[in-house]
Amino acid sequence: MRITGNMVNYYFVCPRKLWLFSRELRFEENSERVALGKILDESSYDRNNKHVMVDNVVNIDMIQHWQVIHEIKRTRAIDKAAEWQLKYYIYYLRKKGIQIDKGIIDYPLLKDRVTINYTSADESKMKTILNKISSILCQSQSPSAKKKSICKSCAYYEYCFV
Ligand code: SF4
Repeated sequence: MRITGNMVNYYFVCPRKLWLFSRELRFEENSERVALGKILDESSYDRNNKHVMVDNVVNIDMIQHWQVIHEIKRTRAIDKAAEWQLKYYIYYLRKKGIQIDKGIIDYPLLKDRVTINYTSADESKMKTILNKISSILCQSQSPSAKKKSICKSCAYYEYCFV
């Protein structure tokens, strides 16, 4: 099953969002927040090191000397989602024999960055997370919409609640 970095992120945001996204139901393209994210992305890092796409599965914002992965985020709203998205990139590259132990989440708007170390415990946690993602993706119907604080800023809000 093809699991992308966005899917790992959405698993921590909302299972319904993950499922809808996996069925190609996309509203992000119309979202102002995503547009802002793209502008941020375009103005960050050196052009030559950006956007490393691997197997058409993971699209990494930047890899520094093939040793440190960088991921850009606009806010720290869901830190755990960003952390595990980055850890998934590390997991994926390690499976390919590229031994990366560390990543950095950059928050250019906040002028902040967080270093994430990948541990051996993360390896087994990642497997559990990927299994849970697979079971959500296999469901024939979407998980139900449950209102939570992040819903108002979600690109799927109108689809879920209006
Ligand atoms: S609006 Fe809320 S329930 Fe709907 S997909 Fe987004 S986060 Fe999930």
